[in-house]
Amino acid sequence: MSTSDLEALRNKLDEINVQILELISNRAEIVEKIGIEKQKQGIPRFDPVRESRMLENLVQKNKGPFDDATVRHLFKQIFKASLELLEEEHKKHLLVTRKRKHEDTVIHIKGVGIGGPDKVLVAGPCTVESYGQMYEVAASLKAQGVTILRGGAYKSRTSPYDFQGLGKEGLEILHKVGGQFGMITVSEIMDSSELELAGQYIDMVEIGAKNMQNFSLLKAVGDSGIPVLLKRGNSATLEELLLSAEYIVSRGNAQVILMERGIRTYEKWTRNTLDISAVPILKKESHLPVLVDLSHSTGRKDIVLPCAKAALAAGADGLLVEVHPDPSISLSDGQQQLDLKQFAEFYRDLNAFQPFGS
Ligand code: PEP
Ligand code: MN
Repeated sequence: MSTSDLEALRNKLDEINVQILELISNRAEIVEKIGIEKQKQGIPRFDPVRESRMLENLVQKNKGPFDDATVRHLFKQIFKASLELLEEEHKKHLLVTRKRKHEDTVIHIKGVGIGGPDKVLVAGPCTVESYGQMYEVAASLKAQGVTILRGGAYKSRTSPYDFQGLGKEGLEILHKVGGQFGMITVSEIMDSSELELAGQYIDMVEIGAKNMQNFSLLKAVGDSGIPVLLKRGNSATLEELLLSAEYIVSRGNAQVILMERGIRTYEKWTRNTLDISAVPILKKESHLPVLVDLSHSTGRKDIVLPCAKAALAAGADGLLVEVHPDPSISLSDGQQQLDLKQFAEFYRDLNAFQPFGS
């Protein structure tokens, strides 16, 4: 074969490549149209029966030189690429993303804006243990300008033999003390059956790390309209966190706050590893407020201040820290809770670094 013949064949191949590109691009446009129509009609996008029929049809028409398995493989890749295209299209439309809503979501509760220009601090003991304990903490926090009081009534404990929280009585205490000091109250719920009661007593519910993918709870909270503090699971990716938030927002409840609380790694000197990079990524990808839980991420008191500064420098809208009048007798998380004096020093130094709204 002469050099010019070889060149002609190569030119032919280039032409065919372009034709194939045009054809698969046309095909992708049709797949997109079908995807939009299916979404409108509420039909699932992936149809395995239709896909297998298309493959059978192609194999029957196959005259070689490729064998049937190769034809199946090649077309399967084209089908997969088209489905991925739909997936991307769908992601662009997630309600929690900046692509869908450019401006920051600010959640207003009792005159406090979360996600706005003022940073917020959520503080309080790990667990509501008694009225006296909550009163003492709240009085001290309020005097320093803290506006959001948190305490656990339903506790997600690793061991069933550990204190499980006071339940309804805990919510009642939180409600009473919050009312006395004019503070916003937040507490974790673990099951949708607790939601109605929580709605009567507190201003915001927390969905804990262990329940980030409790989808029936996410749906119930989404239907309720109550503000939600959604914690990242300790092995959850940021995409999974946003998809969990989407469960809530897609059901009409846009009042969702994302919380980074540390992820599980091989490091043993902290309880979890505070993923600081999560903060700017979540702020970039989503319009929802982003807070950082200093206590459950580090599990220590001695590095709370530098980690708080790092979180704020990374763009966090606020922080969470556990405070107890006497952590040594606390019924949970004693090692990581600040006492009132330690909190006062922490908050003073933090305000010198970045003033908090009150
Ligand atoms: C808590 O907030 O007290 C708690 C149990 O934390 P997490 O859900 O982050 O583990
Ligand atoms: Mn705790």
